[in-house]
Amino acid sequence: MAYTAINPYTEQVEQEFPNATDAQVDSALDTAHQAFLNWRETDHAQRARLLGAIADLLERDRETYAPVLTADMGKTLVEARAEVDNCVRILRWYAKHASAALAPQVRPSQNYKGGQYQVVPTPVGIIYIVEPWNFPYYQIARVLAPQLAAGNTVILKHASNVPRAAAAWQKLMGEAGAPDGLFTNVFATHAQSARIIADERVRGVALTGSEQAGAIIAGQAAAALKKSTMELGGADALIVLDDANVDLAAKWAANGRHRNAGQVCVSSKRMIVVDAVYDRFVSAYRKNVAALVAGDPRDETTTLAPLSSQAARDELLAQVARAGAAGATVETVDVALPDSGWFFTPVILTDITPDNPAYTEEFFGPVTQLYCVADENEAVAVANSSPYGLGGSVFGADEQRALAVGGRLDTGMVSINRPSLGGADVPFGGTKRSGYGRELTELGLLEFVNLKVIGLGDINA
Ligand code: NAP
Repeated sequence: MAYTAINPYTEQVEQEFPNATDAQVDSALDTAHQAFLNWRETDHAQRARLLGAIADLLERDRETYAPVLTADMGKTLVEARAEVDNCVRILRWYAKHASAALAPQVRPSQNYKGGQYQVVPTPVGIIYIVEPWNFPYYQIARVLAPQLAAGNTVILKHASNVPRAAAAWQKLMGEAGAPDGLFTNVFATHAQSARIIADERVRGVALTGSEQAGAIIAGQAAAALKKSTMELGGADALIVLDDANVDLAAKWAANGRHRNAGQVCVSSKRMIVVDAVYDRFVSAYRKNVAALVAGDPRDETTTLAPLSSQAARDELLAQVARAGAAGATVETVDVALPDSGWFFTPVILTDITPDNPAYTEEFFGPVTQLYCVADENEAVAVANSSPYGLGGSVFGADEQRALAVGGRLDTGMVSINRPSLGGADVPFGGTKRSGYGRELTELGLLEFVNLKVIGLGDINA
């Protein structure tokens, strides 16, 4: 059974869902296409009403929806609630702003009657979305909300270890009054996924996940000549400058590295600290990491959750072992772990040379890379030597200087004096091997619309 919910804290299989049959995949495509033909005719007010209804239900039933995330992939209940709240904000952002963002733009041209023409964002059809397990609802919301607002429909293939979250979202859509086919979760196999991408009624493909999956799915979309967006991995730098408030930096660094058990694409994964404050930073950082509390993720005092699966923990252990074998110093930070659950003792890696595989890898869990650099120029050089380019942050008291350093990072996003900030009203996306395209705000809204040019010719001339 491919889609299996195994609780990362109890390590018990709690529910299994059969893979979709080919007939179910065909039916999902038919229904999504039929729904599109109706939905594209709706006005913005109707679309906004549906988005608002989904948000209202999520908000009302937060205590029903949040525990599903904790049970499926292990995040703390506190973080699960915050994720539900974030989805509410995203849905409401599009309910409020999509109409203006999709308004036809009038542009001047002497070739058209009246000296102007319009660019009209128009819906295109079914958008196929493939999502990861680390933020099971948020990943859906940030693509679904703009697509519904734009007049498209969505077929979802979620990660195989969060089937209950996928099913919960399907139920939510029904309760909110979404017509059949507006959103369809399919427990698709990888082979069925390829078939969905190839179907001519599918007009766009959005993936959030690993580089490996991105390369495969972007390739399948390209072979079918379809636009795709790729939100892939990251190895965000957190740069600490010599004038930084070291305690603030160490506090946010520990938070930025360990929230969601370190399984965040924009986690602060590489701490790059200038020599002048390195020792102070490391000592404060180590203390903050040692203060993490591993425990039942439903317990509100837990701050270090288990990893999402046994395979995730095994892979991370192997990665750390490879880093050590290639010369890195591996320090484990003593945090008491419960008897059950796929917990991972936090690790700090130092002495990572550029020929160490760790230098260019993403560690998806509580593993910190620490680099000591001479000055801000070396900090920028080390930060930019990563193949990834998702987010990053710079800590420094002189905000203008920190902003200037941030401006030199080759990434899609930078935050000053915080690990990656973002939010429902901030675009999200990366560059280099972190992918391409943007999600959220009007940038996400315009990824999968046809920017149609409409101009009148003069019938009298
Ligand atoms: P993953 O293994 O790439 O899986 C992501 C999704 O892709 C899952 O639904 C998976 O389904 C599917 N998938 C993988 N191979 C496929 C194939 N050949 N055909 C069809 N579907 C396929 O990634 P993950 O381990 O779940 O997630 C962690 C990665 O996601 C990290 O690298 C993280 O940085 C990245 N991420 C990026 C962002 C961002 O916005 N940039 C956000 C969150 C996470 P199955 O489970 O069925 O294989």
